[in-house]
Amino acid sequence: MTTHSLGSPYVRDQLSLRALPLNEKRLQPDGEFVLYWMQTTHRLEDNWALRLATIEADRIGKPLLIHHGLDPHYTHASARFHAFVMQGAKDLAEQAEALGLTYRFALRRRRDDDHRLVDRLAGRACVVITDQFPTAGVAERSARVAARVNCRVIAVDSVGVVPAASFHKEEYAARTIRPKLAKLLDLSLESVEDRAPQRAMPDAVLRSFDGAWVDIARCDIAREVASCEIDHAIAAVSLRGGTVAARDRLHHFASDGLQAYSERRRNPSDDVGSSRLSPYLHFGMISPLEVVTVARDAASTAESDAFLNEMLTWRELSLNFCLRNPAYASLSALPDWTQRSMNAHADDERPVTYTLEQLERAETHDDIWNAGQRELVETGEMHNVVRMLWGKSVLTWAPTYADALAWLIHLNNKYGLDGRDPNSFAGIQWCFGKFDRPFAERPVWGTIRPMSLARAHAKYDMTGYLARWGTAERQLSLS
Ligand SMILES: Cc1cc2nc3c(=O)[nH]c(=O)nc-3n(C[C@H](O)[C@H](O)[C@H](O)COP(=O)(O)OP(=O)(O)OC[C@H]3O[C@@H](n4cnc5c(N)ncnc54)[C@H](O)[C@@H]3O)c2cc1C
Repeated sequence: MTTHSLGSPYVRDQLSLRALPLNEKRLQPDGEFVLYWMQTTHRLEDNWALRLATIEADRIGKPLLIHHGLDPHYTHASARFHAFVMQGAKDLAEQAEALGLTYRFALRRRRDDDHRLVDRLAGRACVVITDQFPTAGVAERSARVAARVNCRVIAVDSVGVVPAASFHKEEYAARTIRPKLAKLLDLSLESVEDRAPQRAMPDAVLRSFDGAWVDIARCDIAREVASCEIDHAIAAVSLRGGTVAARDRLHHFASDGLQAYSERRRNPSDDVGSSRLSPYLHFGMISPLEVVTVARDAASTAESDAFLNEMLTWRELSLNFCLRNPAYASLSALPDWTQRSMNAHADDERPVTYTLEQLERAETHDDIWNAGQRELVETGEMHNVVRMLWGKSVLTWAPTYADALAWLIHLNNKYGLDGRDPNSFAGIQWCFGKFDRPFAERPVWGTIRPMSLARAHAKYDMTGYLARWGTAERQLSLS
């Protein structure tokens, strides 16, 4: 396989698709460094923003500073997300040191602490390069910073294997994006040799921001998280964040579950039947290129194709949806046939309804649903099969379709370590008919594909799953 250098035409072509200027401001030649403001790509390899920042730093003969910050006020800010991100930051600090990169991590503990560190850094930078991400408020935050600061700000896409800009319009379904991805896949998987920028970061510049960053490589993460003004009722979980843990999980999966993925991923009682990489992919702690490459090398074509159908087709379809459809979090993102169905069935009597609070506490009549909710609350993860049943059921249990959508987004994004992702919105909207076709008409469901919890017992092996998560005595400790 070809390996390209950072200065190669291949890298230039990729960046022409992946990099998007967020303002019209000029590069500041008197700036002291190039700033890579890391937001969602928490890795140092296969990171296109870091690549552009390195190229720019060398082109103008300046050092490169990687700044990564964590604030207390993102939606659903909690000990769970904070711990996961900070564990990943510890890996980043160690890897950066070994690679000769200058990486610094800032923790804003309280809401009224200094919140303009990025502005102060940008005020001394030649150019700011950051990550492009359509959900979790990232695009909006980047746009606000780009409007405030005096230098050029560029957002770079490292989310998908294929540059998201390759698809100009919203794709209709998996079947429409699949052949387009297949054509671009081999080209997108070519490898690039990363390297550190030529000029070292002067200590004096770093010292002038003294107190801005924490010593993440050596700090006590639990203690730091405890000091933050965030929701501590949503506790940290045993799953460790970071590239090292993500790679362990990938290699374990490649040698085990992947070998019979098409069958084993349908079994909720099988712990390693799927990769369980979604939290790591969400935070960019592992490169999707690496996941795809390892999977293609490790399994038969049939099994790796089945995996790529999720990892590539559905993941990049979800990204395309959130990038190209600004209404991705609302029912108006759904196709016409679904709108007609919802209008026709809005007033159908719902035989069973629950409140959001009952759902959150896993207090429904159904064991599988409650088990899925408990898994989500306690571990930040939920098996894919159960997640589909979980989402579909709420459609019929909430008083309105709009409530169902809002409640699913709330529960998914509050507890799921992989929440607030393009996949979150695509997965939830799929429950309402997005990317799907009409089915035979039924009460409440209308023509949206129904899924029955009652039939799930016969269809899936739920024994082990229910033994673990289904105990009625298990009390959820919610705030
Ligand atoms: C109601 C509902 C909510 C969902 N919320 C999320 C979410 O918040 N975050 C999230 O990443 N996924 C979400 N999904 C999609 C899917 O359930 C998870 O990506 C998958 O279960 C993660 O487990 P895994 O990593 O073991 O997947 P694997 O089967 O090992 O697949 C590998 C990767 O492919 C991607 N992938 C797999 N299935 C899908 C899919 N259906 N759509 C898009 N990408 C997929 C994920 O990045 C996943 O990590 C949701 C699905 C539904 C029905």
